[in-house]
Amino acid sequence: MTWDESIERVLIPRDELVARVGELADQISADYQGKEILLVGVLRGAVFFMADLARRLSVPCSLDFMAVSSYGSATDSSGVVRILKDLDTDIQGRHVLIVEDIVDSGLTLNYLMKSLSARRPASLEVCALLTKPARRRIHLHCRYIGFEIPDEFVVGYGLDLAERFRTLEYIGIPSSAAVAAVEDAEGSLL
Ligand code: IMP
Repeated sequence: MTWDESIERVLIPRDELVARVGELADQISADYQGKEILLVGVLRGAVFFMADLARRLSVPCSLDFMAVSSYGSATDSSGVVRILKDLDTDIQGRHVLIVEDIVDSGLTLNYLMKSLSARRPASLEVCALLTKPARRRIHLHCRYIGFEIPDEFVVGYGLDLAERFRTLEYIGIPSSAAVAAVEDAEGSLL
């Protein structure tokens, strides 16, 4: 199967992603006028979004990253989160903006926000490219949201299915055959 055969349909084309990232960057630049932002990217899904967003900001910003693992199946997170890579930066007194690829159940972000707010930043907000409100299991305030999407598993522009499809330039829905192939491979590893 080629990559494009593994994608059932395109949900958000490249030009819509570019336009929306520009709008988010304008809004963030206006809100943080006169301040310096520390963007905290959540590895690895947020990397492409964060790189594009950061380059469109007109306020000064620095970048740091966290890596977390959330236990669960290929398409479902369990809510149990472990920090695999912590920040290199002391965030006390800094204006921190967490950059996430997608908020699904909200459990990963909830954990991250608790962990970072305990370090006493001057402010702590979230910018998520995508949100799936239908899947939310916990109430969260995300100040900046790119797109609300339906309850579908999506890949591309950083988002993966078992590490595949991150480099697609659009957000797409993988075919059920592609999802089943990954689930079979995971099952055979158990
Ligand atoms: P949550 O804790 O359920 O909100 O899940 C957050 C993480 O699960 C995201 O940062 C993604 O890494 C992953 N995730 C959730 N939904 C999707 C999806 O549709 N495609 C790819 N990854 C997803």
